[in-house]
Parts: sequence; structure tokens; C-alpha cells
Amino acid sequence: MGTLKLENIRKSFGSVDVLKGIDLDVKDGELVVFVGPSGCGKSTLLRVIAGLEDATSGEVLIDDEAAGHIPPAKRGIAMVFQTYALYPHLTVRDNMGLGLKQAGTPAAEIVSRVAKASAMLSLDDYLARRPAELSGGQRQRVAIGRALVREPKLFLFDEPLSNLDAALRVNTRLEIAKLHRDLNATMIYVTHDQVEAMTLADKIVVLNNGRIEQIGAPMELYNSPANLFVAGFIGSPK
Ligand code: ADP
Ligand code: MG
Repeated sequence: MGTLKLENIRKSFGSVDVLKGIDLDVKDGELVVFVGPSGCGKSTLLRVIAGLEDATSGEVLIDDEAAGHIPPAKRGIAMVFQTYALYPHLTVRDNMGLGLKQAGTPAAEIVSRVAKASAMLSLDDYLARRPAELSGGQRQRVAIGRALVREPKLFLFDEPLSNLDAALRVNTRLEIAKLHRDLNATMIYVTHDQVEAMTLADKIVVLNNGRIEQIGAPMELYNSPANLFVAGFIGSPK
């Protein structure tokens, strides 16, 4: 299972209200894209879901269980960042397996999960290399692999393509779409790119200034934007 429910999530930093009451339902196996301009609160919302940041108020429910008291490592969530966040001194194999090792997973199980993920992501030839010996696209595949081996209930992607050039962006995007289909995994994918949102999403959540402007399937938003903001961001010109 991998469902997520957000109930009236608010987050303030000092006197600055960054999230102003977010309600959302994500079904098992859905790929939901959060889209919105820079600074609207997308990363903060992901961090609250992952437990890296406490909400000021409101509730995160994972598989219908309130997650407020559950530490990040126990939430069954894996996050992929724009900057990859790989360890430079570790090989690809060890970068992918480190989280499992820290969680006390038996060595044989780590080997088999890393082998499975590396096959899915075409990383077999790179397992002995270090991040500096890889291209940006390969590094991002390693970061995705590191998420995969944990077999999480929920994948969170925070602008994973932002540091890639145009051709690699398309490839990596297709790869993420394929993973979603193959694993039938629940995924939340953050981007400020309308094309990524339109092509990947089962459901798009349009964020603006800490609030949800509209939630809907890509064509629903495109054809029937709720307001000028959504129309300007992804809708067809009116
Ligand atoms: P996005 O990912 O949509 O670009 P963020 O969630 O990173 O937006 O940031 C939303 C707002 O919250 C920004 O104004 C940012 O400066 C502020 N913010 C994020 N994290 C912190 C923090 N730890 N302390 C203070 N302000 C923060
Ligand atoms: Mg961000």
C-alpha cells in the first residue's frame, strides 16, 4: 500500500506562512505532480510529508496512519533530490546500498536489491565507479536507484531533472514514467515545468503562494482552468 492524505497542513517559519492549509488525497499507485512557481512551498511540502520538517499544524497520514510521531526513516518514504546528494567517496553500488546497510538489512538482501535496481536503471556497468566518474544523468539514475532499493511505499521527487540538459531530461523523465508503470508505485513529483507536469501526471496539484489553486487530471486543468493563475500556468489560452 502507499496512500497519502494531507489534512489542513500549515507551515510557518517565524512570522512567514509558507503553507497555508493544504488538503490532499493521493491514492495507491498514483503519480501526483506538484507544480507551481519557485518559492510557492513545493519543497517545504515534500519535506513535511517526508518528516524532515514538522508541520506547524495539520496532519500527514500514510496508509491512513497519522505520521506526525513517525521519524523520517520509518515512514517508508524515499526522496530523490535535484542535487542527487550522492556520497563522492562511495561507489555506485555502495551509494545505492548504504541506506539499507544503515537500516540493518542483511548483506545478501542488499546485494539482490541493488542488482535488481541497477538492472532496471541500466547501471550494471557502473556499479564499481564513483559519482565523479559519471555523467549527470547517470548520477541521477543512481539517486533513483538508491530510492528504489528501499522499496518505499511512497517516492518523492523534488525537481529531479533540473540539473540535466534537455536531451537527458526527456530520457530521465521517460525512465521515471516507466518505473511508475512497472512498479505501480505511489509517487509525488515536484516541478516548476508545465511540460513535465502535463506528460507525467495522473493528477496535477497547482500550488501558488502556499495554497492549492486547483487539483485535476492534466487535460482537465488544461481545458478548464479554475482561474487565471492556473490558465497562465498550464491552461490553454482563453
Ligand atoms: P519551492 O520549492 O516551491 O521553490 P520552498 O518550499 O523551497 O519553495 O520555499 C517556500 C518559501 O519558504 C520560500 O519563501 C522560502 O524562502 C521559505 N523557506 C523554506 N525553507 C525555509 C526555512 N528553513 N526557513 C525559513 N524560510 C524557509
Ligand atoms: Mg523547491
